[in-house]
Amino acid sequence: DIVIRLDGVGKRYPDGTEAVRDLTMEVHRGELIALVGPSGCGKSTILRMVNRLIEPTSGSVWLDGRDVTHADVVQLRRGIGYVIQAGGLLPHQDVRTNVSTVPRLLGWEAKNARRRADELLDLVGLPPGQFGSRYPGELSGGQQQRVGVARALAADPPVLLMDEPFGAVDPLVRERLQTEFRRIQNELQKTVLFVTHDLDEAVRLGDRIAVFSTGGVLEQFAAPDELLAD
Ligand code: ADP
Ligand code: ADP
Repeated sequence: DIVIRLDGVGKRYPDGTEAVRDLTMEVHRGELIALVGPSGCGKSTILRMVNRLIEPTSGSVWLDGRDVTHADVVQLRRGIGYVIQAGGLLPHQDVRTNVSTVPRLLGWEAKNARRRADELLDLVGLPPGQFGSRYPGELSGGQQQRVGVARALAADPPVLLMDEPFGAVDPLVRERLQTEFRRIQNELQKTVLFVTHDLDEAVRLGDRIAVFSTGGVLEQFAAPDELLAD
């Protein structure tokens, strides 16, 4: 069951930068794929083509058997949770509101959206009674990342795109977030593209690892143990 398919995808930015080159890759339902490689090798560009923040210059991107170029953007993004570095939280809204905004936009009743937010805050290790009415600025970096993950999960999207979600926190916190996220993923079985420049993180989290080199070239795509055997 293939959820995401990149078919000969290339991306050249208007200034001529070749960010991704002839990329073909399939992601199965429930898989966590770690995209790893040095800064600037095109990882974020790949995520941004999947949720159609940008369009490929060649090839096509498929989600659930549909070419995303022809998809309705609103509907497409409804099925995708997006987590970026530093959480991407709304600074002037409290934690509970940050998490419940998407369900509210989808038409959930306030009470249900709030209950959902509280459930997710528990799931990511932030008891809502303690953290729900804080503002992002009153949280540590790691706590903000947890809220970012909770927010991306709020509408229960089948697909998660995570762009260096734990990149901004110190190594100890980072390791804890990785462990917790792996536990959450084991439970929820989302289809995940997880961008990192850290091979250890990729090995710890990925069911399979896609290794990119500068210029957006896919060098290897394999399970962690196969990769380490090389
Ligand atoms: P990564 O996520 O692996 O760090 P990116 O996908 O952000 O890599 O970037 C890939 C390449 O494309 C880099 O050389 C970057 O400078 C370039 N790039 C990214 N966004 C743009 C843009 N909007 N315009 C021009 N070049 C860009
Ligand atoms: P990320 O790590 O998510 O790629 P960046 O800080 O690299 O974030 O990029 C932030 C924004 O700047 C993005 O919208 C990206 O498209 C744009 N950008 C990145 N690199 C370049 C570049 N070389 N030229 C123009 N825009 C760029």
